[in-house]
Order: sequence, then structure tokens, then C-alpha cells
Amino acid sequence: VTQTAATSPFHAGELAVQERMGVRQAVASWGPKVVRTWMPDQHRDFYTRLPFVVAAARDDRDRPWVTLLTGQPGFVQSPDPTSLVFHGGLLPGDALERSLGAGSALGLLGIEFETRRRNRVNGTIVEIGAGCLRFEVGQAFGNCPQYITGRTWRAVEVSPTEASAVRRTKLTAAMQDRIRSADTFFIGSGHRNAEDAPSNGMDASHRGGPAGFVRVESPTRLVFPDYAGNNHFNTIGNLVIDSRVALLFVDFETGGVLQLTGRADIDWDSPAVAGHAGAQRLVSIDIEAIVQLKNVLPLRFSEPEGLVRELRLVERRRESADVVSFYFVSRDGGELPDFEAGQHLPLEVTVTGQDKPVTRTYSLSNGPGQRRYRISVRREPEGLVSRFLHDSVDIGTTLNSRSPAGDFIIRHHDRPVVLISAGIGITPMVSMLHELTSQPSERPVTFLHGARNGRHHPLAGEVNMIARDNDNVTVGVAYSQPLAGDVRRRDFDVAGRIDARLIREQVVDLDAEYFLCGPAPFLSAMADILSDLGVGDEHVHVEQF
Ligand SMILES: Cc1cc2nc3c(=O)[nH]c(=O)nc-3n(C[C@H](O)[C@H](O)[C@H](O)COP(=O)(O)OP(=O)(O)OC[C@H]3O[C@@H](n4cnc5c(N)ncnc54)[C@H](O)[C@@H]3O)c2cc1C
Repeated sequence: VTQTAATSPFHAGELAVQERMGVRQAVASWGPKVVRTWMPDQHRDFYTRLPFVVAAARDDRDRPWVTLLTGQPGFVQSPDPTSLVFHGGLLPGDALERSLGAGSALGLLGIEFETRRRNRVNGTIVEIGAGCLRFEVGQAFGNCPQYITGRTWRAVEVSPTEASAVRRTKLTAAMQDRIRSADTFFIGSGHRNAEDAPSNGMDASHRGGPAGFVRVESPTRLVFPDYAGNNHFNTIGNLVIDSRVALLFVDFETGGVLQLTGRADIDWDSPAVAGHAGAQRLVSIDIEAIVQLKNVLPLRFSEPEGLVRELRLVERRRESADVVSFYFVSRDGGELPDFEAGQHLPLEVTVTGQDKPVTRTYSLSNGPGQRRYRISVRREPEGLVSRFLHDSVDIGTTLNSRSPAGDFIIRHHDRPVVLISAGIGITPMVSMLHELTSQPSERPVTFLHGARNGRHHPLAGEVNMIARDNDNVTVGVAYSQPLAGDVRRRDFDVAGRIDARLIREQVVDLDAEYFLCGPAPFLSAMADILSDLGVGDEHVHVEQF
């Protein structure tokens, strides 16, 4: 069913960009399921745990700004599925000071850096005054994994005498440095209707990338690459209709914020776009006004490196002759940081007989958003850690880990995906397969795996089940030494190794993103085959164990 603007949760600008990017039909099929007019309990609970919420609104001159509403966890309450109440006001000197009132449109983004969860809700202020703001939900959006840098926060006392506010129209050198080192910012935008009046509310959104992903072109101009997201195009859809835009950079270490407002211009396809790995578009911002607030946030954030977490083993499952899956939860019962499919878990293991803990990394083999981690480990006959895990780690054992890491992740969300693995290299692919099928989609996914035979083919049942339930998923299996039972059951497609023929037969559209994982000789063989098939290097992503 083709949705019209009248029945779709998306406005004309969003639909136009979805159309332009060729995802309108696909988004129409899942959009109504993930955009609601109320918040499920899980989302309401999420807001009540947060020490800050990102908010986008317009000032009395109709310019958008983004700010943070802050307080101790619990400062947000959700008395019912369509309301949020904030006990805590705007920051002193905030660009939006004196601009908000009953009826103001507000776009909210709840984000938990530690677990990399985020959640968006748009609506209106129904009441504001005396440190209390009551908000009514218009549209609530489901969670979506994103490029979020992990951080932990702690509360600090802020002294009003140390707070300061500066208003300018050009970035100082220090502000430019701040922007150049940012790996995160928030963006606010809104929609205007045919009468040029604000309508459809405001959106607040997160943008993340490697530090330096925002370029400062002049004291009044910034450029940043826009990576693939959830294909809703809420922000870009607003900007094609109303170029007014707001940016917020947070000084995580010192508790300051830099608020910018200006106009956005989108570069869809100039050669400059290709200069940014993974960018779908470039967005440039011409800055019109700046508010810098120092020492205002009652929060400080620190980098994730030092984060060591205790995990408790809750389940072991044999997957094949030499592979066992281990399922972990957080030892203290708290939530684990979420991960992106393809990332790995750095484990610190104290092996009996060793005086120091040893570190090994294992790809997460379950899908994100499960509240537990699964790794699937092949026992190396002489291996220190894999043998210890297999032979000596029982249910209830605790191990130390750092946060999931790695950039072997899916960034292009609109191209077909081909996952090719051999041996234990199957683990990140299974996670990606879960992520790719977590929402109904028409995006073609091909899963090719090479194993010795059915005794050495972990997670095969799980992969086949996903393929059975998802029409867009195709699976091809190559066994180098098939057993009689494998032949009888027709458990594989090709006797031998994955080769160009299998790839050509199974991959419907070669113009895809390729993910390869397995031993080095396999990786180089695959890279050669893909190059012969005309696949560009930039579309081939590789993980070597
Ligand atoms: C990003 C990433 C993701 C990974 N994901 C996974 C995963 O999902 N699943 C998985 O199983 N592994 C994975 N690995 C590999 C994993 O990190 C370990 O390298 C692997 O488990 C071997 O560790 P070990 O301590 O058991 O072996 P080590 O003690 O480090 O030994 C390494 C190798 O040397 C051999 N060896 C050691 N001593 C001898 C000896 N005296 N004589 C002969 N040979 C010897 C071992 O058999 C083993 O093959 C991943 C690695 C990376 C980098």
C-alpha cells in the first residue's frame, strides 16, 4: 500500500527525501510500527533514568536552538504514556531563555551514552513555570542504534558564580578547536507548512563520528558528513523545506555548551561527498548566532576507555564440534552497554596458573539490544584463553570486560548487504544478520559461509531459521570436506570453497556492501574475487581474527 502524506507519520519534506534516496516504500512499510503517538513503558522508564535530555525549540524570532534540560536522574517523570514532566529548567543564559511557553513545539532526544541507547519524542509544551515543564507527546520514535561514543557521567555541583554566557555571531578560535575535536553534536530542525508557519513540531537528533568529522571552514561556516541512519530523514526532510538549523556541542569535560543557529545547505552528490568515507551527503551550516555557556551543566562525562565491567556467565551452549557459545549478563544486574553488530567484546581473563590477566577479543554473535552478550568461541587445542573458557568457565563465573568496540559495522543502510565468512569468522556475521532482520525490510541480504562440514558449522540452525523467516535473506553454504550425512541432508550448496561462481549465483545485486571475516588466506582470496567481479574496495569491509 502506498502511503499518502495524510496517513503517513512523515511530512512532505521527509517523504521527498525518502523518495530521492529510494527508500520510501520500505520506510512506509515499517514507519507506522516505529512511530507512535504514545510512549511504550520501556521508553517512559528510559526517560526517568536520564540526568539530561536534549531539546530543540524555536526562539521568539523563530530561530531554532538546541539545549539540554538537566537534573538529577528522576527529574523527568512520565505520569502517563503521552506526557513527560521535567523538574528542572533551562540552563542559565540559555538561548531559549524566555522563548518557551505553553504551545511551544519541542523536539526531545533522550540519550544514554553508556549503553548507546537513544530515543526521540516530539510534541508540545502544555505548561511551563517555576522549574517545571509539562510536555505532551505528538510522535514517539523507536530506538535505533547509531554512531554513539560511549561515555559515563557523574553529577557535580555547579556554582552560579562560575557560570558565564557569551553571545556572538562568529566562532572564536577556541570555539573552533572545540568543534574540531568533537565526536558528538546534537542538531535541531523544524518543519514549515505551505503557509510558511511552523508545523509538525521540532526534531532533536544526535550526530556522531570520529573526532574531526565536523570541519570548520570559516568562523561562520561548518561542514559535516551525514552518514546513513534509519532512513526516516527527519532532520534532512525538515531542512529541505526549512533550512533553519540549530547545533549544540557539549563540552563533556568542563560542563559547557556551545549553541549555534543558522542555515543549512545540503550537498547531495558533488565530488566532495566522496571525500568523506561513508558519507551520504555533506551538510554545511552558515552560522547566524552563537551562545556559549560555560560551567553550567551539573554533569561531567568521561571517556569509556577505563570502563571495566564484570560479566556473569548465565548460559553455555554447544554450537559445533569445537565451538561453544557463552551468554553473559552484567554481574550487578544493571544494564550492559549496547553494541553495534560486528563489534567485539574485549575480555580480561585470569587463567589458572597465570599471574596476570590476559586479554582476548571475541566478536559478539547475538544481535544488539538483547540485554546480554553472546560470544561463540572456537577451542584452539593449544590456545590459552579459548581452552580455559571451554574447559574451566562454568555458569556463575564472572569475567571482566571492557565496552564493546570496533568499527566493523554496517554504515550504509540503503544498499544490499553480502556477508561472507569462513570458519569461526561466522560470529560477527550472525550478529549482523540479526541486526539486518530486526525490522522488516526489503533490503537484499546474502549470507555466504564456508566450513569444513556439518560438524564444524556453528550457528547454522540459527542462520537458516532467520533465512526462513525473512524473504530478503539468501544463504549459501560451501563445505570443503562434506560428510555423508551432510550430503544426505543437502546441508550445503557447494562442495569445496566459496568461489566466484557461488558469489555470482547467490548475490542478486553485486552493487552491495560486502563484509568479510575469516582467516587471512580466505580474506585475500575473497578480496581478489570481489575485485575481479568489479566491486570497489570502498564497498568491502574486512575483519580478521
Ligand atoms: C576482532 C577479533 C574478533 C575475534 N572473534 C572471535 C570469535 O568470535 N570467536 C573465536 O573463537 N575467536 C575470535 N577471535 C580470536 C580470539 O581473540 C583468540 O585469538 C583465540 O580465541 C585464540 O586465543 P587463545 O588464547 O585461545 O590462543 P593463544 O594462546 O593466543 O594461541 C593462539 C594460537 O596459537 C596456537 N598455539 C598456542 N600455543 C601453541 C603451541 N605451543 N604450539 C602450537 N600452537 C600453539 C593456538 O592453538 C592458537 O591457535 C577474534 C579475534 C579478533 C582480533
